[in-house]
Parts: sequence; structure tokens; C-alpha cells
Amino acid sequence: EALGPTITVGEILVEIMATTVGDGFLAPQPLIGPFPSGAPAIFMSQVARCGGAAGIVAAVGADDFGRLNVERLARDGVDVSAIATIAGKPTGSAFVRYRADGNRDFVFNIAHSAAGDTAMTGEAQALIARAGHVHVMGSAFAIDGAGAILRAAIADVKARGGSVSFDPNLRKELVSGAEGRRLVDDLLSVCDLLLPSGEELFVASGQDTEEAAIEALLAAGIAEVVLKRGAAGSSHFSRAHGRIDAPGLTVEEVDPTGAGDCFGAAYLTCRRLGMAPPQALAYANAAGARNVTRQGPMEGVGSLAELDQFIASVSAKG
Ligand code: ATP
Ligand code: MG
Repeated sequence: EALGPTITVGEILVEIMATTVGDGFLAPQPLIGPFPSGAPAIFMSQVARCGGAAGIVAAVGADDFGRLNVERLARDGVDVSAIATIAGKPTGSAFVRYRADGNRDFVFNIAHSAAGDTAMTGEAQALIARAGHVHVMGSAFAIDGAGAILRAAIADVKARGGSVSFDPNLRKELVSGAEGRRLVDDLLSVCDLLLPSGEELFVASGQDTEEAAIEALLAAGIAEVVLKRGAAGSSHFSRAHGRIDAPGLTVEEVDPTGAGDCFGAAYLTCRRLGMAPPQALAYANAAGARNVTRQGPMEGVGSLAELDQFIASVSAKG
């Protein structure tokens, strides 16, 4: 951690979820929430809980949804100095209902919420100036100003010898246009660690088999590619270590939201704390699995000690 905290830029929001499974929000129904959320926020909560220094550039409204998030992140140990409070705009929100097939219906208020006003501030500049690592969350590109701040942060941190990680968290719409594609390609060319899941591997690499995709990404100079496989676990690929598989831990999935964010944050932080890839992968696998056992996007975030306990309490699938 000699090079300073891991930082990111992106959306903070509350999540309010239906308590029943079904289609959408066309009728009155019981809901539970607000839960603190936003992929970049979940990620930073897990970085801090793992013992890493963490900070986030973001914006919330002057309301309870904003206070709920800022208080949670501060309690977890995240530097909240660069979270701006925007007068006259509400904190972002997402209403979520799971369908019987596992897909989700959403009502989002992000781009037009306070999060949409995320901008470079004096506090953001100060946080970037002491950062040692930039994590880029693809979902943040839904915010107009996020791309420019991330580019500035990456240039600054790289110039000081720092590193970059990228979770594409891709919506296909993001890479469909020429500009979105350029953005993804720019990030692939600077990132040291790539954290794709599912078809993101193929979209990012332009290849259509796992083997070809991994080979293309490593050949392009990305040092580590860690593929998230949901309940099946994860795999790590690098020139130095070849392929390392971590089978999924057998858990009861209560709420899958946030698993990928916890996974990535635990992996990155363990590596930045000096662990070798197999140990970092084991913690990451546990962080993702633990998070799905709790309702709420960041309610299952755990410290390394809690992850040790969790690993001991569940048995690995064969
Ligand atoms: P997200 O929905 O947050 O974007 P993702 O698609 O990026 O998630 P996943 O592969 O769903 O990422 O989950 C990340 C990691 O969490 C997996 O690689 C695995 O280690 C763990 N994980 C997720 N779901 C489960 C599960 N049901 N059982 C065990 N482990 C799980
Ligand atoms: Mg993901």
C-alpha cells in the first residue's frame, strides 16, 4: 500500500427491492430497503473491509438516502472526502424485483439523480493526487462526467507507477457504439487486472472461445485476467502462473447483487496487500459467495477474518 489508496469514480445509490418474486412494479407490493448500493460503492466497502485503503469520487443528494450511504462507507473505513453533496437533486436509487427465471426488472434513477452531477472537485483532485490504484467499474459510464475523471485519475496514478483494474460490468449498449468501443479498448490497453464475467470476456476480447479470449487479452499485455463464473466459482489467468481455478463454495444464494463487486475488491486488495494469486483468489471467491448469502447489495461484505470463518464453515464443491 506504499503507493496510496485504491480509488474509483461512480454511482452511489440506494436499492429498494421487492420482497416477492414476480414481474416488475405494475401493482402495489411489499418492498424492503433502502440498502446502500452502487457497484463502485460496494467495491470500495469491500476494499476497506479487507484492510485496504479506499476512496471514492461520487455525488449524493442532501437526503437520507445520501446520508445512509456516506455513513456506511465511512463506517467501513472508506475515505468519503470526495463524495459531493448536490443541492436540489435526490440521491440515486434502484428499485429491483426478481423474476422467477432469476432475471431482474429495474426502475433506475441514476443519470438524472445527484450521481449524474459527479464532477472533478478540489476534494476529488486531492484524493486522486494520493491514490496508488484506480479501479474502473463499467457501470460508472452511465454517468456523463465519470469518464473524464477516470481518465485523469488513470493518467495521474500511472505516471506515479500505480496500477489500474477494470471490471467491464458491461451493458452491451456500452460497447455497441464506436465511442463506447474506444473507451473499452483504451481501458484494456492500460489495465493491469481485468475482472470480466460471462460474455464480457468475449465482448472485451472480440474472440468467441474462452481460450482464444484469454490468450488475446494476455497477449495484449494485461498481466492478470480473473474470470467470474457465478456459482461455479472463478479462474485466474496469467503468463506467470498459467491457469488457477477456484471452484464455487456451496452456499444458499439469497441475493446475487454485488457478488462480482465484492469478488473483485477482495482479489485486488489481497494482491495489493502482497498475497500471491492463489490466496487472493480464494479470498475473492469467498467474498463473492458470502455476499450472496445476505439480502442487500453490500450487506455480506466481510473482513479477511470473517472470510476465513466463512471458508471454514462451508465445503467446496468438487
Ligand atoms: P454482479 O451480478 O455483481 O455483476 P458478476 O456477474 O460480476 O456479478 P458473478 O460471477 O455473478 O459476478 O459473482 C462473482 C463471484 O462471486 C463468483 O466468481 C463466485 O466466486 C462468487 N459467487 C457468486 N454467486 C455465487 C453462488 N451462488 N455461490 C457461490 N459463489 C458465488
Ligand atoms: Mg459484474
